Amino acid sequence: MKKSIKDLTSLQGKTVLVRVDFNVPLKNGEIRDDNRIVQALPTIKHLIENKARVVLFSHLGKINHKNPEQAELDKQKNNMAPVAKRLSELLDLDVIYVPSTRSEELTNTVKNLKDGDVLLMQNTRYEKGEQKNDSELAAYWASLCDVYVMDAFGSAHRAHASTYGVPEILNKEGKETAIGLLVEKEIKSLERCVNPDERPYVAVLGGLKVSDKIKVIEALIKKTDKIIISGAMAYTFFKALGYETGTSPVELDQVDFAKRCLEEGKGKIVLPVDVVVTNAFDNPTEERTVKVNAVPEGFMGMDIGPETRELFKKELQGAKIVFWNGPAGVFEKDQYSKGTIAVCEAITGLKDAFTVIGGGDSAAAAAQFGYKDKFSHVSTGGGASLEMIENDGHLPGIDIISSN
Ligand code: ADP
Ligand code: MG
Repeated sequence: MKKSIKDLTSLQGKTVLVRVDFNVPLKNGEIRDDNRIVQALPTIKHLIENKARVVLFSHLGKINHKNPEQAELDKQKNNMAPVAKRLSELLDLDVIYVPSTRSEELTNTVKNLKDGDVLLMQNTRYEKGEQKNDSELAAYWASLCDVYVMDAFGSAHRAHASTYGVPEILNKEGKETAIGLLVEKEIKSLERCVNPDERPYVAVLGGLKVSDKIKVIEALIKKTDKIIISGAMAYTFFKALGYETGTSPVELDQVDFAKRCLEEGKGKIVLPVDVVVTNAFDNPTEERTVKVNAVPEGFMGMDIGPETRELFKKELQGAKIVFWNGPAGVFEKDQYSKGTIAVCEAITGLKDAFTVIGGGDSAAAAAQFGYKDKFSHVSTGGGASLEMIENDGHLPGIDIISSN
């Protein structure tokens, strides 16, 4: 068991550096969805209540350091200042914002913090060395604190300076490292999808790319009792079965992989039986519902059809654990959202089942259609949740934290 912040007893007066996931969607400097900030609040509040001096850091968007001009533009776009403002509102206290990641100002402000203060520094990716796990950078950040807390589940699959280098140094120095309340909750839920404690365990996969999800598909074939496959991904499997797929999004270089999956997952893999196809992705003039082996030339699959919606519901019946990643169709377009809504309905309608969403777009779809609160757990980390399943419960940013 990883050491949790609840196991840290004397926090008063200690400077606690917390890696949070404040990678929120921004548009013109406005936060479009503050869910990631909200999810970090329990840990921050716990630390304040225990009179720690809280120093928060996170990445925000991407900075292209290879191109200095672009890097400047990226920095303007991905400035942490609006996050500090929103965090102040949510905590109802003045968060001390330091607009740099390595400076005398930052060092001194951290030194002068009082018990219960909260400081947020600039976007960690302003530093070229963050993603390279630069040892000097990690040593500087480590020098700021007495204790390190990992609460950025969405970044735990990355061994960067802020997620790996810092706790590695603190461990060596005999200082405390622990996981935060959000990471603790994520581990508890996702562990049941890694090592199911009840069966049947059913995975519902969809979304865009087979190539992004090869490893998780391989892992799930071994772990689950059934895998339901839909979304754009299904067409690569149809190709593997020798069907005509029209202009559907097939990944030709993944067809052999799909064949192998169908072989290895014999009897476990459930594919759509009918699909909704159109003659163009945008502004189509024709739309049809067809059997999966009868996609007409010039048509592409956009959603699962009515028979498949029923089939998936039937196949899910009796499931005790369900892991969902990837929408069943192009749910962003109203007319192709029925499949994804049906998947939400079928999963959340199960009795006594433990249901998990691991996927950014899937979580967004569930929220959009009003099902988010009906799932047992909605992971804050799409990539991280998939990697956790692939790697049998291991993620670098969590593995490096001390155990009890
Ligand atoms: P998640 O973020 O949940 O892991 P993905 O990123 O893999 O999911 O996939 C989400 C995207 O897949 C959505 O934008 C959706 O429009 C797209 N998608 C689903 N089905 C299809 C399809 N038949 N054709 C094209 N795109 C699709
Ligand atoms: Mg996605």
